Amino acid sequence: MESTVVIFPITTTGHLVSVIELAKFISQLNPRLSITTLLMPSLLGPSPASAHTETVASTALNVRFVHLPPVELTVNLQNAQPETLVSLCVERYKPLVSDHLRSLCASTKVSAFVIDFFCTTMIDVAAQLNIPTYVFFTSGAYLLSLLLHLPKLDAMISSEFVESTTNITIPGMPSLPPHDLLMPLKDRKNDAYRWMLYHSQKLHEIKGFLVNTFDDLQPRLADAVPQLVAGDGAGPAVLPVGPLLALDTNKGSDHECIQWLDDQPDGSVVFLCFGSWGALPDNQLREVARGLELSGQRFLWSARSRPPPGEMIQWRDANLEEVLPDGFLERTRDRGLVWPTWVPQVAILSHRSVGGFVSHCGWNSTLESVWFGVPLISWPLFAEQRMNAFELVNDLGLAVGLKKESVEDDAFVRAEELERAVRQLMEGEEGEMVRTKMKAVKELARKAVKEGGSSYNNLKMVVAEWSRDQ
Ligand code: UDP
Repeated sequence: MESTVVIFPITTTGHLVSVIELAKFISQLNPRLSITTLLMPSLLGPSPASAHTETVASTALNVRFVHLPPVELTVNLQNAQPETLVSLCVERYKPLVSDHLRSLCASTKVSAFVIDFFCTTMIDVAAQLNIPTYVFFTSGAYLLSLLLHLPKLDAMISSEFVESTTNITIPGMPSLPPHDLLMPLKDRKNDAYRWMLYHSQKLHEIKGFLVNTFDDLQPRLADAVPQLVAGDGAGPAVLPVGPLLALDTNKGSDHECIQWLDDQPDGSVVFLCFGSWGALPDNQLREVARGLELSGQRFLWSARSRPPPGEMIQWRDANLEEVLPDGFLERTRDRGLVWPTWVPQVAILSHRSVGGFVSHCGWNSTLESVWFGVPLISWPLFAEQRMNAFELVNDLGLAVGLKKESVEDDAFVRAEELERAVRQLMEGEEGEMVRTKMKAVKELARKAVKEGGSSYNNLKMVVAEWSRDQ
């Protein structure tokens, strides 16, 4: 009987790109095991990752995409936080996903159901059909540990976590300043918190986690796991299988940004980009421009504006003439390029002239930086980015930290602070240390996913289990 693995991701760019890589990796390990990926329509307009699914669908790989129809969301989501929006949307798909799984089971052996951590409402559906559920965890070990520990934290602490005068303890992991917690955990009265707590409780019911990290990057995970999941083998397995990244660096190689980089000296350019959601208020964009000018360094900057309140889009192209300080573009013409929209980030990070990356520390961006050995400046904006930044600066030594005006998530960064961090990264002692660590971890990243590497072996073991009765 034919065997298949069903993958049910969420369709935001940051979560979709890496799960598609997982599908490709599984298919390469066992071409006879088919992969069926159930895709909800993108919540916020066409995602750049959609093109990626089409490319993969057109290859000879045994990966199939099923595009689910849109469903009506009956509640008003205008003011909902993204975690609520995504969780509610996924819940509405329960009947459709259940039908698909049932009909697949009639003709095929469904070896595993691999879901995103926002899709835990689907665990029951698979359990009814005796299909083991796995989570492909699109972020790193720190967030995973926090989520696995959250049910206990919730029971132990009754006040708001952010009011804590001490750091939050996460077993096996660095203790975390309260304001650096995952964003929806900062207001426990909000629906987004209730959803995260719900997901964190359900995560204990699954068979295993495939985590987009690797042992040498986050070695604390192995020690943390026994403290986070039930002992005696009853809890889920936790297996690092990364870094899984869409690394087709040829994509975008004819982009104007790449042509501009071709003319710059090796390692001389600092690149600024804030992920698929990352847009800054116009006054902050102006301040960034001032900071870059003060730094005297070469730069490539994907500068995007915040959409007007209430508009369900992630960002809008920046109107550079209007937003940037008078004469800035002219004055920096010889050493900087500002691109007002989406840029081919992987092609940029892989370019020899890029020597630093000011990043929001989204997990894919972090891993891409690691893969290409580009040292970071951390400028987290939301979601788990502050946790990632804290770990990168304080535990892993892979980023220079950027100080904000206050502990608020949206706090302002002054031009002089950006200037300091950029100079430090590109010419300072701290930058040199970060660069050296990045170089070392880059080699380890590549080793992890090569045949015989730790992540490769973990995934091979799981795929062998899924292929057992073939
Ligand atoms: N990305 C890109 N160009 C952009 C912005 C983002 O190619 O202008 C890609 C980036 O390479 C990464 C993904 O979008 O693969 C963003 O994922 P990440 O987890 O870093 O952040 P998120 O978008 O989830 O905040």
